[in-house]
Amino acid sequence: MPLRATVGLFRATKRRDRHEGSTKIAATKERARSLREYKRKRDFATTPEPQGGKPKGVERLFVIQKHRASALHYDFRLEAGGVLPSWAVPKGPSPDPKVKRLAMQVEDHPLDYARFEGVIPEGEYGGGTVMVWDIGTYRLEEDATFDEATRKGRIVFTLNGKKLKGGWVLVRTRGRQWLLMKRRDRSTSTADITIEKPRSVLTRRLLAGIARDEGGDVARAATGDP
Ligand code: MN
Repeated sequence: MPLRATVGLFRATKRRDRHEGSTKIAATKERARSLREYKRKRDFATTPEPQGGKPKGVERLFVIQKHRASALHYDFRLEAGGVLPSWAVPKGPSPDPKVKRLAMQVEDHPLDYARFEGVIPEGEYGGGTVMVWDIGTYRLEEDATFDEATRKGRIVFTLNGKKLKGGWVLVRTRGRQWLLMKRRDRSTSTADITIEKPRSVLTRRLLAGIARDEGGDVARAATGDP
């Protein structure tokens, strides 16, 4: 065989190797995304094949506490790892998908904090009135674990609360700074839910009512009520 032909064959082989290599990588990426077609082609009522897809997420606790501290904010907490990873959302959640709400990650809180409603003494950390503004369960979507989603900086979840429903997402912008957003589904709304539904889901009280009952600063608490 002439040298040129041998070199040509060698090059062709190399090219094919390279091509197969890239095909393999693309196929791996695509396989992770193409279960929709796998499912479309099968009737799982009749085939014993695995249905695949993500495992059904478990329902975990979520709570939002409206907190009239030095500044009014809403503490958004999702149960994970036996504690409540938490974000302080100054303007509170918006059910309008076009509205992004700043959510500053704060320290994890204990699970039993979820039902705390009352007055933190002035001068103490977070001093002021606390209301359980919404409570219920959430289901993690897309990622198998909360840690995985947190690492990616994108926590996708579905809320089943008394006030908030449907798909939501927390997206990290930098450091401890995240954005809380409603995902598009049937539970979106352009209403200002913090104004329209200002009461405690546990006791129906406003902040002023909680402060009055628990010996807090009623006038200061009232500045957080609509
Ligand atoms: Mn707080």
